[in-house]
Amino acid sequence: MKKFKLVTLLGIRPDYIRMFKLIKLLDEGQKEHNYEHILVHSGQHYDPELFGNFLKDLNIRTPDIDLGIGLTLKERGVNNYAAQTALLDERVYEMLEKVKPDAVMYLGDTNTVLSSVIVARYGLPVIHLEAGGRSFDWRMPEEKCRIVIDHLSDALYSYLPRYKELLLAEGIADFRVLAIGNIIMDAVNEWKDKIAESRVLATVGVENKKFILTTIHREENISKKEILENKLKDMLKFSEEKGLPIVFPVMPRTWNNIEKFGLGGLIENKAFIKTKPLGFFDFLRLEAEARLIVSDSGTVQEEALIVGTPCVITRRSTERPETISAGATILEGFEGEGTLYAKMAEAWDMKTDWDRTILNPEGGSPSERVFEDLMSKIQEGYFGKSRDYENIKNNSFVRKAYSKKI
Ligand code: UDP
Repeated sequence: MKKFKLVTLLGIRPDYIRMFKLIKLLDEGQKEHNYEHILVHSGQHYDPELFGNFLKDLNIRTPDIDLGIGLTLKERGVNNYAAQTALLDERVYEMLEKVKPDAVMYLGDTNTVLSSVIVARYGLPVIHLEAGGRSFDWRMPEEKCRIVIDHLSDALYSYLPRYKELLLAEGIADFRVLAIGNIIMDAVNEWKDKIAESRVLATVGVENKKFILTTIHREENISKKEILENKLKDMLKFSEEKGLPIVFPVMPRTWNNIEKFGLGGLIENKAFIKTKPLGFFDFLRLEAEARLIVSDSGTVQEEALIVGTPCVITRRSTERPETISAGATILEGFEGEGTLYAKMAEAWDMKTDWDRTILNPEGGSPSERVFEDLMSKIQEGYFGKSRDYENIKNNSFVRKAYSKKI
């Protein structure tokens, strides 16, 4: 029998953090289950600081194929999402021609997942992890990516039952969707010891619970001078009032905009301890030891919940409201002057006795759940028939959504 060829196509640092265990499981299971696993990097993240050393530190293997889109665009001197998507589409098509996979698996909501249009158009099944995330905020670039890939996917792995319900309400067939728990739990659990060994507090020069930690990189926060300035000023004011420094690992894009807008003076203030992007173990340790976190990252708000540190989500909206209802995070919401300051003050007084298991209510390993389900799907020939016309037509959820049209 022909070996099933599964491509995993990822693009940015947090994709690899979330997927490290599943990548390992899929690599190790090839012999026993008679399939081939090919890891492909889109090249969306390529900066050596973000990516080169990052994989090595986490002991994640080098991808088999690097589509190199980020580097090519840099060489061409273009930097916009249209050029990025167009180049990615071309390179994904070439990869499909060469590799001839039987299915392509993606994670999350980055521009990389938009190439699922090419995969589906090619007639191949798409698999999506982190399916069903919705902020209902059409201003977010990621919201469009989520909707596109979810509706093209043959197998959708959602973190929580709530996400599955959202997908069913959008008319996606129930047999495609499985809630597996949030796979970030696997990263935090598997690397517990490494995180405990980190000496980052001494290196950065801060003490347990006597600092604030921040990361800011989203377009909504860094593309307008006024918004970025408000955020930095609010953090500064709060930190000076509490007499605590702010540890700030600055992403290259954020740094460029700080310089471009002439805001460098603000973070030259001694309250800010600026660093380059940190290794994952060091960063997790800082998250666990911080008194308060301020971040616009989707992953950081989940990690904050798991390690037990209050977090202000400095964004207009979130696709992960469960961290708010658990009482672990507060959404900034509106980004006017003083809003972040007010929310930091609110989060400062929050109790930290929330349930730290809500992201994976069933316990166990979400990556193992995906692996087992994928293996049975491959064995049963699921991907050959998931788009079968009869199969879709007779599905009750689809019937309900499209009732008389079919
Ligand atoms: N992270 C890291 N080093 C840093 C900052 C963040 O390893 O200096 C990790 C963090 O623990 C989380 C992920 O990177 O797992 C978050 O990635 P990102 O900030 O790109 O945000 P997201 O894509 O989740 O919004």
